[in-house]
Amino acid sequence: MMYLDSAATTPVRRDVLEAMWPYLTGDFGNASSRHRIGEAAAAALAEARREVATVLGCRPGEIIFTSGGTEADNLAVKGIALAAATGDGDGPGPTAGPTAGAGSGVRRDSHLVTSSIEHPAVLESCDYLVRRHGFRHTRLGVDSNGLIDLEELDRALGRGAALCSVMYANNEVGTVQRIADIASIADKYSVSLHTDAVQAAGWLPLNVKELGVAALSLSGHKLGAPKGCGVLYLRGRIRAEPLIHGGGQERGRRSGTENVAGAVGMAVALRIAEAQRQQAAERMTAMRNDFAATILAGVDGAILTGHPTERLPSIASFCFPGTSGESVLLELERLDIVCSSGSACAAGSDEPSPVLTALGLEPDVAQTAVRFSLTSDITAEQLGQAAAAVIDAVATVRRLGVP
Ligand code: PLP
Repeated sequence: MMYLDSAATTPVRRDVLEAMWPYLTGDFGNASSRHRIGEAAAAALAEARREVATVLGCRPGEIIFTSGGTEADNLAVKGIALAAATGDGDGPGPTAGPTAGAGSGVRRDSHLVTSSIEHPAVLESCDYLVRRHGFRHTRLGVDSNGLIDLEELDRALGRGAALCSVMYANNEVGTVQRIADIASIADKYSVSLHTDAVQAAGWLPLNVKELGVAALSLSGHKLGAPKGCGVLYLRGRIRAEPLIHGGGQERGRRSGTENVAGAVGMAVALRIAEAQRQQAAERMTAMRNDFAATILAGVDGAILTGHPTERLPSIASFCFPGTSGESVLLELERLDIVCSSGSACAAGSDEPSPVLTALGLEPDVAQTAVRFSLTSDITAEQLGQAAAAVIDAVATVRRLGVP
């Protein structure tokens, strides 16, 4: 079977599992316990934090271990926005306006700015803040390549904002946003910028100083660490209202007994991904370009979605008009190739992908989307076979007609 769905998840690397093993067995302690076994766990956690901080170019105290990308996004969006709106954040706080009702302390006009193609972990967090805390949410449109307009961003942030969140790389089409330029604009208005770097990790530079971001989310299982571990980088002076209360772990920012083995796995996977990043990105970009060119040449009317060049090396996403994405997926699976009709989170939904419709694709074309996300160990020969299979699969579905 050929696995072309790395953007959904990746298998745990053997070296990552081996690094985690001691903290699941002999050194299984609770990192808060004051005995030898607990201290061994605490030391491993501290080392994992240092390792992640080295990759991100920040201080270990700025790393918060979470249960994954979704939690990191939730903590960034809700945590920073609520702290800013109640005057606890480092940012400008709320713009002037009435409060949300007696005792809530939340300003009604607190403003959130995101792109319209963020992951649901960000968009649903914003919806929650709008529904329950009276925030306003500006969703910036994107062009047909998936890029936001920086002048529109400037105008939106000029109205004041509690938080701006723009993903580094999109999970469905792979478009990479100009985060450093976005950060300069956010900085001009003293707005905290969060970026979801879940898909970017392993392919793009993650130095938070160079990116200029105040917060950045990562997820372990896209990198060869297990599901259920992630990281939020939160710049030192920025406050985030905790979402999970309890024993005060992670310096009160995320309570709950630490997942020591998960943090170790996350750190090792991130270190390895960073060490291999440049070479992997160059190799994969060349292979992905060949793969896309073969499919575009072999499938009449095929559309490569996302930016032609500013895209993740690992993602090639297409629409194949005259098919349905699900039928092409089934046909490819019959040919022993697994991929996705869009993001794993939206799989099974009958609605066309909001990301693709935001790019301006008609709903009936968006329904024909297929995403291939490559793993770094794939060979050119395998990808050649995959491209031939895609051409065959689309021809078969078109011949048989869409059910
Ligand atoms: N953000 C992006 C861009 C993603 O692609 C995903 C997962 O697909 C997430 C966030 C959620 O991460 P997790 O699965 O670790 O909760």
